[in-house]
Amino acid sequence: MRISQRPMSDANIRASFEFFPPSSPKMEEDLWRSVEKLAPLGPSFVSVTYGAGGSTRERTHATISRLIKETDLTVAAHLTCVGATREEVDEVVREYHEAGVRHFVALRGDAPEGTGYAFFAHGDGYQNGAELVAGLKAFSDFEITVSAYPEKHPDSPDFATDIELLKRKVDNGATRAITQFFFDNDLYESYVERVRKAGIYIPIVPGMVPVSNFKSVANFAAKCGTHVPQWLADRFEGLENDTHTAELVASAVAAEQVMDLVERGIEDFHFYTMNKADLVYAICHQLGLRPDDETQIAA
Ligand code: FAD
Repeated sequence: MRISQRPMSDANIRASFEFFPPSSPKMEEDLWRSVEKLAPLGPSFVSVTYGAGGSTRERTHATISRLIKETDLTVAAHLTCVGATREEVDEVVREYHEAGVRHFVALRGDAPEGTGYAFFAHGDGYQNGAELVAGLKAFSDFEITVSAYPEKHPDSPDFATDIELLKRKVDNGATRAITQFFFDNDLYESYVERVRKAGIYIPIVPGMVPVSNFKSVANFAAKCGTHVPQWLADRFEGLENDTHTAELVASAVAAEQVMDLVERGIEDFHFYTMNKADLVYAICHQLGLRPDDETQIAA
């Protein structure tokens, strides 16, 4: 891992932020505090996740609608097609279109039991992310972002199959991919090389997850097929009951990773914020992003 000596201001860094829909008044407060803190950094867009199997359908819609009404941020809605017919998904799309959504993060989604369980597509539904992209484009000329897997999706038998599906998503109209989180930048770089060799030229934006709780991130990584390097485990060793120090370490680790990616020529980053602004804000600050005083949230 190299640490950049180049002033970050030389690079034209852009960030996007992902939030999840809150399920309690306290979580709602946390979310809006995070939005208020991160919005002045001028994200290219912010996105809101769609719970497994559409379980947050109403909450995602409410969060998206509020973001559109109360901020001037560009808002993207995550949408999955698991466990639903095409008609049901199209109805959700219609509701989002009416609310003013023009950008989707289009996904197949996981089995209702969660990440890592066997997936079965609905007989009358969109079968995967590529089919959903086609369905969205048939509805309207949306901007469409999709997923990409530097370490291969666990359901894919090999990289060729995985990248072939990404190619179909692009052929159907996707113009950006965000990666599953990863900690090994070499793996990301060799994945991007494979993708380019397959004739895919859309941005493959790294999805960055700040590791504030190492144990839960490591558990989730195992389900997603994300390699957790030993050096990362070593950094958090002994901090299981020391949240404050773990967050300081998390900030340093994430900043190193993003700065190394900047050195490799990456300028766009997507942050899985977990609705926690401080850590992501600190990382963005180290990337050279500064608040624009003109950006106001109309509360
Ligand atoms: P696809 O890209 O469509 O497929 C993934 C792989 O599975 C493919 O490589 C393909 O080979 C294989 N595959 C596809 N269809 C089938 C099939 N019918 N049978 C067997 N194999 C198949 N999940 C949520 O629930 N809500 C979210 O908001 C959300 N946001 C995400 C955002 C990003 C940036 C990323 C990277 C992931 C997100 N996820 C989300 C997780 C995602 O839903 C899971 O990774 C899911 O397992 C795959 O969805 P996909 O669109 O990437 O699938």
